[in-house]
Amino acid sequence: MVVICAWCQQEGQRGILEITGEKADERQSHGICQYHSLRLRHEYRRSLFFSTLPTLPHQASSNSLRHC
Ligand SMILES: [Zn+2]
Repeated sequence: MVVICAWCQQEGQRGILEITGEKADERQSHGICQYHSLRLRHEYRRSLFFSTLPTLPHQASSNSLRHC
């Protein structure tokens, strides 16, 4: 069985991570390589940061001060 990085494959690269079992076994399984794993984590953190921008802590505290 051939394990291929799905993200590498999408970019047109071979992206073979591992070949397990017999070489004649051409079945494919998908995984993720170290490069794309790091890149996805970085993009995920960045998306979390931007999704929190509308509710910045100083805006929330200024609203609560008005009500007190
Ligand atoms: Zn990859």
